[in-house]
Amino acid sequence: MFMLERIIDAHIHLDIYKPDEQSLILGEMEASGVDALISVSNHLLSAQKNLQLARYDSRIKPAIGFHPEQPLPSDEEVADLLALIDNHQDEMTAVGEVGLPYYSRQEGKADKREAYMAILRMFIQKAVELDKPVVLHAIYDDAPVVCDLLEKHSSIKAHFHWFKGDARTVERMARNGYFVSVTPDIVYKEKTRKLVRQYPLEKMMVETDGPWSFEGIFDGKMTHPDMIRRSIYEMAMIKRIPLQLVYDRLYENTSWFYGV
Ligand SMILES: [Zn+2]
Repeated sequence: MFMLERIIDAHIHLDIYKPDEQSLILGEMEASGVDALISVSNHLLSAQKNLQLARYDSRIKPAIGFHPEQPLPSDEEVADLLALIDNHQDEMTAVGEVGLPYYSRQEGKADKREAYMAILRMFIQKAVELDKPVVLHAIYDDAPVVCDLLEKHSSIKAHFHWFKGDARTVERMARNGYFVSVTPDIVYKEKTRKLVRQYPLEKMMVETDGPWSFEGIFDGKMTHPDMIRRSIYEMAMIKRIPLQLVYDRLYENTSWFYGV
């Protein structure tokens, strides 16, 4: 029988999918060769949902954090999230999604930068304290700022998901051993293809960021972890590395990074 290469979706928001979509994805995982989903959280309720999903299906690997592209949480919510992390450290895979608000800042909505920084520092501190990887939303100008924070902790495992940034920062991140992941937009976004050209495969992962939807050949389709296969094909072409090696390396990277 033909065997599919195994894959891991290194960044998905499974809790945001509708229940019937969640069932569809989980039901198709085995047949689509998807071994695990790193399901990140946007806020407290989202984290509770991800923990619940993971209790129901052990292939779901939950991360707990507060997504920066939304209004600031109350002090109470931050405290509850940090307590949730403490109380569920054995069930959770990583701290995330955390970072700084780039898009909301562009729209003039997130001017309280210092407050977002303070929250990010607390989550990074928690990740260091519990020796967990951290999943970061830090793009463009925010990436060097987040590098400054991370460099205070030499042993931290950092994953910059759907990374976009300048060449100097890309070099700095690679030197620090940070991981980046790419989404299916690699098919049609030159920026993503360029990142793949520049970044070492040894420090890369693949993700969907689902249910975020994609364009081009994915237009109108529900974002499904099997879209990652197309990303891996593109990566192999861009890097001129045999497809099988790219599959193996990405799997190994993700499985090592998240301990799954
Ligand atoms: Zn995300």
